[in-house]
Amino acid sequence: MNQCDLIVIGGGPAGAAAAIVAARAGVRVVLFEKGPHGRDKVCGDGLTPRAVAALEELKIDLSPAHRIDGLRMIAGKKTRELAWPTTDRFPNHGAVWPRHRFDTHLIDVAIESGADVHFECEALPELEGDRVVGVRAGGESWRAPLTVLAAGAQGAAAKLLGAERDPNEPFGLAIRAYAPTPRHAERHLEACLSLRDEHGTPVPGYGWMFPAGDGTVNIGVGALSTMKGFKKLNLNTLLDQYAAIVREPWGLGGYLDKPRAWRLPMSCVRRSGPGWLAVGDAAGFVNPMNGEGIDYGLESGMLAVEQFLANPATAPAVYDQLVGERFDSFLRTGRRFSFLIGHPWLLKPGLRIAVGTQAAADITLAVMGNLVDSRTPGAAGTVLKVADGALRLADPLLRRTRAAA
Ligand SMILES: Cc1cc2nc3c(=O)[nH]c(=O)nc-3n(C[C@H](O)[C@H](O)[C@H](O)COP(=O)(O)OP(=O)(O)OC[C@H]3O[C@@H](n4cnc5c(N)ncnc54)[C@H](O)[C@@H]3O)c2cc1C
Repeated sequence: MNQCDLIVIGGGPAGAAAAIVAARAGVRVVLFEKGPHGRDKVCGDGLTPRAVAALEELKIDLSPAHRIDGLRMIAGKKTRELAWPTTDRFPNHGAVWPRHRFDTHLIDVAIESGADVHFECEALPELEGDRVVGVRAGGESWRAPLTVLAAGAQGAAAKLLGAERDPNEPFGLAIRAYAPTPRHAERHLEACLSLRDEHGTPVPGYGWMFPAGDGTVNIGVGALSTMKGFKKLNLNTLLDQYAAIVREPWGLGGYLDKPRAWRLPMSCVRRSGPGWLAVGDAAGFVNPMNGEGIDYGLESGMLAVEQFLANPATAPAVYDQLVGERFDSFLRTGRRFSFLIGHPWLLKPGLRIAVGTQAAADITLAVMGNLVDSRTPGAAGTVLKVADGALRLADPLLRRTRAAA
């Protein structure tokens, strides 16, 4: 039996952030990652200004990342190029940092800070009654007062804890590849909001071109489960169709690797319990309106350990409450919104509004940059509060009339 202070399951951004904060505070933290050192993660590699703020808080050197100054939104024939806004909470720039390098950098910082990291080692929670007492990993038992579930989109570890996706809530699927482009050093992300599937049906989701500054662009498409025909949607075909649209303007070469797809969890029925709590994707912290979750993962990982440092016994409950105050209303609004845009007849006019005027585009930008939450002042925050109220009233109707069966 091995004893430590804190166990982390998963070495993505959420788990690494938790391990960094804990190790720096002198906590004996052990992290288990089932992939090898330097494992890749299927992702768009986009770091929002919110993610940059979290990385700065973690004192991560961002110089290896490719700086991004804003977002170009394309909806039909309309294009709007906007700079990330200056706010008092987040910097006015984001970044693109390919996950293979980004995650390796973060986990290396955790190791340098003193975390004991075990690669190629799957960990599964061990329970005594309803309390998580540690994990079973590499044929051994590990014990700690708190276990942090940072295992990404829900799998075997989440299942043991009842921390699964809510089957009544939407989720996303997305696919990405890398391709060479002469425009790799551009400082704007590009998002095409008017995607259509092979039958011409508008897809609630978007196609992205995220220039990585290293000769390549991360190209991908993502879709929400709220659309009719989602189960039959072929992401490879959707990606190829999108690549055909951007090939000429981007001087795009062929894919450098086989396109890979992964899930975007947007809900979680239970994210804490005695002796454990969930962070990042494991807790369903992905913005339903853009599929981004690195920033929420970093923030929730840090917040979890701050609560552990304050009081290990109350950490799960206090964390659950704090993280709920920070994210729940925004994510709930996003999920309800995704039922709305699952209807093609609402998606089309919605897009026209989203980029139609400068004021609307600014709000869309704030949403796409994960810059909005319950603490956001100004127009975007007000719109969120109003939308939250209106969509709450409409919730039963939205679910009854959802496009996806
Ligand atoms: C195609 C795609 C594009 C995306 N683009 C963006 C984007 O541009 N920007 C953005 O912010 N977000 C994006 N996201 C979402 C983003 O990838 C996730 O929100 C983010 O990776 C969450 O980090 P995490 O640490 O919670 O989980 P992960 O990064 O998934 O890390 C979880 C880790 O846990 C490990 N693990 C799992 N189970 C176990 C176990 N039992 N024992 C040990 N280890 C285990 C896994 O191997 C993995 O390394 C995208 C997602 C997809 C699918």
